[in-house]
This record gives sequence, structure tokens and C-alpha cells, in this order.
Amino acid sequence: MNCPHCGAKNQSSVSNTRHPPRGDHTTRMRTCLQCLKAWKTTEVTNAYLAATAEKLKALHAELRYAKNPKSNLLKPKGTR
Ligand SMILES: [Zn+2]
Repeated sequence: MNCPHCGAKNQSSVSNTRHPPRGDHTTRMRTCLQCLKAWKTTEVTNAYLAATAEKLKALHAELRYAKNPKSNLLKPKGTR
């Protein structure tokens, strides 16, 4: 993983790993071995990412529809 602060490539160490009770993600605290700054990462499954993307897509469609209900956009499922 590249450092978001200085851009060093794959030169970080993990100082803490947490597995929250729900079990759908893992967070890690990383420290760059070049600039010594720290950042947090979150690891999720591809299935979780795909489900989240679908939820965001539906929300986006709903917002577009709410903004312009008379357009030729289809009314998203679940909207009144
Ligand atoms: Zn760095």
C-alpha cells in the first residue's frame, strides 16, 4: 500500500488491526517507514463493495428523480 502522505510505495508497517463484531470489515492502522506518518485502512470483501455500490446507485437514481421528476428517468423502486 502506498503512503497517502509522501507516496512511498509499499513501505508501511501495520501497528494495529481490528475486527469489529459485525465481521464485515477489518481496519488497520499503518505507519509509513519513510515519513513516519500514520493512516487507517479498511478491508472489505468484494461482495460487500458490490452491495454498497448497488445501494449508492439506487440512491443516486432516487436523487436524480427527486431533482427532476418530470424527466424521462424511470421512477426508482421504493420512491413514493
Ligand atoms: Zn510516507
